[in-house]
Amino acid sequence: TSFDAMGIKDDLLRGIYQYGFEKPSAIQQRAVMPIIKGRDVIAQAQSGTGKTSMIALTVCQTVDTSSREVQALILSPTRELATQTEKVILAIGDFINIQAHACVGGKSVGEDIRKLEHGVHVVSGTPGRVCDMIKRKTLRTRAIKLLVLDESDEMLSRGFKDQIYDVYRYLPPDLQVCCPGSCFLFD
Ligand code: AMP
Repeated sequence: TSFDAMGIKDDLLRGIYQYGFEKPSAIQQRAVMPIIKGRDVIAQAQSGTGKTSMIALTVCQTVDTSSREVQALILSPTRELATQTEKVILAIGDFINIQAHACVGGKSVGEDIRKLEHGVHVVSGTPGRVCDMIKRKTLRTRAIKLLVLDESDEMLSRGFKDQIYDVYRYLPPDLQVCCPGSCFLFD
């Protein structure tokens, strides 16, 4: 399969090609279509195999950029991973004018508030800071339709379970959930 055959929005395809991708990696071949179709997906992929790009692509395809509400939330175990995912989203989503924000600990809360109040389509963050922003009502959850738990296995082993659940409680009931992890969750 090619990216062209995946039913991806034209301006997003342009972004993918401009970013330098020519054809989907193995994980992208298997996971992109089911996620775009709205299915809940658990995918096993080592880092470096195109997992972050797969998340960026599916998130960009899912959000409606004519609205300014947060529609996709990505939770990651580390600040670095959350920030990397935000960067890839901004790069491949350039032509669809995607607005994304990394909501991570160690950065200024004031900057989070400013960005979130200005309006973003996607938040990529670590559980603690995201939960904080939701409780302050700075991060509005009512339009979120896709939750990505990146490296959920790693998040659980780092003790984020309660914080993830805390976030999950604020999300709408008809939520799509995707879990791309580097080792299998339910071994
Ligand atoms: P990721 O796991 O998404 O961080 O990707 C690992 C590396 O492979 C990064 O340098 C990506 O830019 C690159 N990459 C991801 N998907 C593709 C693709 N479909 N074609 C070429 N390079 C890719």
